[in-house]
Amino acid sequence: MTFENLNIIAPIVQALQQKGYIEPTPIQEKAIPHLLRGSDVFGTAQTGTGKTAAFAIPILQKLYEARADRKTAGIRALVLAPTRELAIQISESFSDYSKGLKLRHTVIYGGVSQNPQTTILRKGIDILIATPGRLLDLMNQGFVRLDTVEFFILDEADRMLDMGFAPDIKRIIAKLPARKQTGFFTATIPNEIKALADSLLNNPVRVNVAPISAPAEMVNQSVYYVEKADKRAMLQQVFESEEIETALIFTRTKHGADKVTRELIKIGISAVAIHGNKSQNARQKALQGFKDRSIKVLVATDIASRGIDVDKLSHVINFELPEVPETYVHRIGRTARAGESGTAISFCAAEERGSLKDINKLLPHAIEVRKMPGFVPQIRVPEMASTERSERPRPNFRPSASAGMGKGSFRRKR
Ligand code: AMP
Repeated sequence: MTFENLNIIAPIVQALQQKGYIEPTPIQEKAIPHLLRGSDVFGTAQTGTGKTAAFAIPILQKLYEARADRKTAGIRALVLAPTRELAIQISESFSDYSKGLKLRHTVIYGGVSQNPQTTILRKGIDILIATPGRLLDLMNQGFVRLDTVEFFILDEADRMLDMGFAPDIKRIIAKLPARKQTGFFTATIPNEIKALADSLLNNPVRVNVAPISAPAEMVNQSVYYVEKADKRAMLQQVFESEEIETALIFTRTKHGADKVTRELIKIGISAVAIHGNKSQNARQKALQGFKDRSIKVLVATDIASRGIDVDKLSHVINFELPEVPETYVHRIGRTARAGESGTAISFCAAEERGSLKDINKLLPHAIEVRKMPGFVPQIRVPEMASTERSERPRPNFRPSASAGMGKGSFRRKR
């Protein structure tokens, strides 16, 4: 399957080629024809599946083809995203895919001065990418009108509701024209999402890709048993023994992220912590540095890492394991994007063994347990259960079926 087979117009195909996209990803293959035909789409897909292009390409193509019939000025497509990072990434994707189309787009989000944003809006734009809070603000001040919108995309709808944006989203939707085409994207479908989709979509086509554990297949995963006090020394060893181009390291706390960052800098590795205590500017700078490879390592908490999207992230390192097993799958899904392979390395201290068992239950195979050659721990690793001692996983080893895995160890957080 090629983009030409999907009837994508030549200038967009060329722009995609420049980005190195050779063939459409499954979500693109499934969603693009329906969106080009004018249907509403209800897509269940996570970040990392190529869903941005799945909605951006048809919007660009339809706006480009209809440019001659354009009667009124005004915003023609609105994309809502939950976070600034995601909104900026979507905007960058629109820039990448729209080279030569002469369509204007901009992105607006909170936490920064609104003046540069309103200056661009005044000049007139075709496509607006926005986070809900800033959009409502600018609507209330009269800088944005939505009555000319023809295409509406709600991206990561479940995360938006999670973040408490439901009232804002409803206010925004109320200002959109009744006649429009809508794309609704979510990773999960809790009841409120279903209700919102039902109220918004008109006879939608359902498009599903990649169940939650699918990306794990593409990632080369391993775990080192290492006690808390030894983790920093172990991290140094990992950097010495592995070829790490770019890594995203996960810690449980902001404080932990800062500590790990300091240690890495001490041993000469360019690293930046990215978390909620950092200003928007500092976060942007860190992300930019990571993208242009002047920074090798980002250290983040789960919350801060949401929306970080970098091409070809070679390693994900779990300095601490997450307590919610699904979070592990989300974390390692940051590497091995769009068919590339990637590496995920985890550190597991004695008190994290319960989390590791829960994670293994979620995966098709248990994570391979490895030992670092020559690593001398300060703290002696406690005696392991026999199933955990082997260095290579047994084929189809399913920890849920093995001894000593009582329900009591399941520490899933609500
Ligand atoms: P997304 O799920 O939209 O965040 O996209 C995930 C990553 O896949 C991004 O880095 C995109 O640049 C990349 N990507 C999207 N579509 C394709 C494609 N057809 N071929 C190769 N890479 C792609």
